[in-house]
Amino acid sequence: MKRCLNLLPALLLLTALGFTAQQDEDAMLLRRAEKLHDKIVSIDTHTDTALALTGDSVDLAKVQADFAKLREGRIDCCFYPVFVDQGPLEDASRDSAYLWTRGRMEAIRAYIEARPREARIALGPEDVVKNKKRHRLSLVMGIENGYPIGRDLGRVKDFYDLGTRIITLSHNYDNDICDASRYPQNTWGGLSPFGKDLVKEMNRLGIIVDCSHASTSTLYDCLELSKAPVICSHSCVYAIKDHPRNLTDDEIRAIAAKGGVIQVTTGRWALSWLPSPQVDIGVFCDHVEYIRNLVGVEYVGIGTDFDGGGGMKELEDASRMKYITVELMRRGWTDRELELFWGGNFLRVWRAVEKAAETAK
Ligand SMILES: [Zn+2]
Repeated sequence: MKRCLNLLPALLLLTALGFTAQQDEDAMLLRRAEKLHDKIVSIDTHTDTALALTGDSVDLAKVQADFAKLREGRIDCCFYPVFVDQGPLEDASRDSAYLWTRGRMEAIRAYIEARPREARIALGPEDVVKNKKRHRLSLVMGIENGYPIGRDLGRVKDFYDLGTRIITLSHNYDNDICDASRYPQNTWGGLSPFGKDLVKEMNRLGIIVDCSHASTSTLYDCLELSKAPVICSHSCVYAIKDHPRNLTDDEIRAIAAKGGVIQVTTGRWALSWLPSPQVDIGVFCDHVEYIRNLVGVEYVGIGTDFDGGGGMKELEDASRMKYITVELMRRGWTDRELELFWGGNFLRVWRAVEKAAETAK
């Protein structure tokens, strides 16, 4: 017993030394991550922050992806689409959703334009690169759920003129455009006839086709019809969590084969069946690595869904984004792989969407 007691201080010292070494390594990795983010373009392709920032009473402390937190997390470009709740498929409801969406888009535009030294609206990939050089954030307009387009293609141009560069075709219910993944009534068996015209119009204007929330048949119709790559702005891997919103291996392969990208989302609902306290950055990185191993690092990125159900342990808001880089560095990711994951892949897709629009003209 006495001998054990003699050993105790030595054991405590060794534990403390081990702990300090771990802390030193963490601090070193964080410095390396921040340095890398200074050099590369880091993009989050989906949040619901537009609505969170333009509500009646905004408490910035509760907003997950406001400007200050994006900067702290080393994010250069964040998508601020307007999320649209779906009403009945009737003209009166479609029309009021259209006017409401325009109003909210004008409100978030005004919010950004009132802060020109901090941030700018980006209308294309080169704006993102330019804003990064000038130490300004880029925000991208869009719509989550094409419901307010109704059955009027002219509205797509209206939204484009307001800055829209991405449209998530549906939310959880089938709409005039297509079938959704969560409640598969299979109204259209994929894209509706109007939805097919819409995808062509989006190609013509240079708007990114986003199939997160869409059904499998909608995704395959888009992949067949679209002249440009197709993305999922916030979706995870079905093989890890068998949730209908997630993507099967075949879907992931098909998106990659068309040159698109899968932007992995961060909500526990998509990541794991485990209880919340056990779902952390490691689980998120498992989804990212699954896609990399299946189709290659050129086809994976991130769309957090902050302020709309995204975020989990260790990634409570955008200020923590750089810790994803720390975890991937720990797993042996190279700087080049991280550059592709954070924005290189998405910029490639966005440039291809612009090129397809130019070719169409
Ligand atoms: Zn969503």
